Amino acid sequence: MTVVVRGFGRRRARPGASTLRAVAVAAAAVAASAALGDFRSGQLSLFLTLALLAVSLDLVWGYAGILSLGQLVPFGTGAYVTAVITDDSPTSSMPALLVAALVGAALSSGIGLAAFRRRLSLVVVGLFTLMLSLTFEQIAEQWRSVTGGFNGLTDIPRLNLLGLQLGDGAQDLVITATCVLAIAAVRLLLGRPIGAALIGVRDNERRMDALGYDTERLKLWAFGLGGALAGLAGALYVHRTGFVSPGIFGLTLATNIVLWTLIGGRGTVVGPVIGTLVINFTSAALADVWLQYWVLATGVVFVAAAVLVPEGLVPRLLRLVGRPVRRPADPMLSVRVDPPAVDGDRALLVADGIDKAFGSFVVLDGISISIERAELRCLIGPNGAGKSTLLDILCGQQGHQRGVISVFGEDVTGRRGWQFARCGVSRKFQAPHVIDSLSVAENLAIAAWGPRSSAWFLVRTDWSVGIGEGAAKILERTTLGDRCDVTAGALSHGEKQWLEIAMALAAPCRLLLLDEPTAGLTAAESLDAAALLRDLHAELALPIVIVEHDMSFIRAAADRVTVLARGELIADGTVADVEVDPAVRSVYLGDGA
Ligand code: ADP
Ligand code: MG
Repeated sequence: MTVVVRGFGRRRARPGASTLRAVAVAAAAVAASAALGDFRSGQLSLFLTLALLAVSLDLVWGYAGILSLGQLVPFGTGAYVTAVITDDSPTSSMPALLVAALVGAALSSGIGLAAFRRRLSLVVVGLFTLMLSLTFEQIAEQWRSVTGGFNGLTDIPRLNLLGLQLGDGAQDLVITATCVLAIAAVRLLLGRPIGAALIGVRDNERRMDALGYDTERLKLWAFGLGGALAGLAGALYVHRTGFVSPGIFGLTLATNIVLWTLIGGRGTVVGPVIGTLVINFTSAALADVWLQYWVLATGVVFVAAAVLVPEGLVPRLLRLVGRPVRRPADPMLSVRVDPPAVDGDRALLVADGIDKAFGSFVVLDGISISIERAELRCLIGPNGAGKSTLLDILCGQQGHQRGVISVFGEDVTGRRGWQFARCGVSRKFQAPHVIDSLSVAENLAIAAWGPRSSAWFLVRTDWSVGIGEGAAKILERTTLGDRCDVTAGALSHGEKQWLEIAMALAAPCRLLLLDEPTAGLTAAESLDAAALLRDLHAELALPIVIVEHDMSFIRAAADRVTVLARGELIADGTVADVEVDPAVRSVYLGDGA
């Protein structure tokens, strides 16, 4: 059964229209360049190679959220590789472009592997990549037989197109067209689901992990593609300048591309291009007149831009004219009917003897818990009892010291959050975790793709996607259904809670873990939430475990209550049983509660 959820599928781009637009923009850039005259046309082509480099940085920083100061590693290496290849064989400049892109991709993938496998923090990744760039500068200086040492390599031939050696003017036009086409291709690519997934990793990596995304691989993919673009940019740059020296890996250019990207507006493809062109043309115009002041002024411009326009010029201008910085994709959502969550007689999830300590502080001490059928269970306990920690462990979001976890009979101990999500264990966090920069519908689409989310799938697929019945019911029964094209960051707290639950149900879900879903709701809203969760549980035969404090919610919702205190499960039974249990009354409810 496929039911189109109301309010969707209005705007469908004609296939091929975007490609035609990209070609038209490239043609317009070439025409403008030709009209500018030789000198300006040459400047434009040079600055566009730098703009392509800035776009490669934007892909990894603005989209995937990792500030790499090492984009010069693939850029500079691409330049040297091209210089060496075309020095030996001037007619090989086309294959050299490809080799430079491949070498750039390989280098950046290697850097990404080292950084992400070791789970380096963002600051350490920034410093690590910068140090690598400076190390490459040293290598280029020392490895004289290949790189020409300190003086570098000169007299690099101009581009050779299919045996035709280009003159300066023709080369400028070809470089301009190539850069514009490459930048337009990146823009097209990032308009596809992969772009939204990278934004998801940037905004909320934990949420993406809990949806089934192997975020490490996505970041690696962004690094690899960014490296390919930087390698290509380096190859074009070296044809344009005719020489390359170790300074191409240097600190000045490394920090400048960050500056151009930041000032233009990261997270938009156009922003870094505008930033690079405006700053470089201005710099070139003023350099003759005020060289020493202009270098000083660059620092002032950077500080002023960071303070006055932190979001960047392009996003600020778009806001001023009332346009959104990023136009949501408007996915076509339909309802997908999944087989029942409960699978024969096998236990859904069994955790046995779970120990968890932070240093010497023991939070969970030999907890055993098992979810065996489609039950609606509340997990209660005083603040700090370890409820959120237990939920984290049950869905692979945190490791633990001892104990075994199995899902549908399969031992999953030690697996990562995204692997649990792919087994059908879905999670809502205590504080709402949604992807603020994406629309409600995009959040749901991203959630629905989670379990089969390879980068290439996200590149190929279009924006039509089936969401689980549970997610569709939440859209129907809450205000979210009318807010599908609103950016998630603009939702109320309660709407974010429902969006996160709907996201947890968008992909096939076999066990739903909810951490304080009614936090921030009024008493009446909390009872409505209990009714809706009961309905979802009954209609989908869905096992749900809810961490909750609110006794009226628990009375309205729960079949069964489990009580956690002092790192142990101290009671388990119906609400009525637990309410009169003396141990529970003393630690949690307090006598007379
Ligand atoms: P609950 O959800 O029951 O309120 P939590 O599971 O959030 O409790 O926390 C249980 C205990 O573990 C608390 O005392 C908390 O301070 C501690 N804790 C949670 N996370 C960490 C952490 N990352 N490092 C150290 N202590 C932590
Ligand atoms: Mg908690």
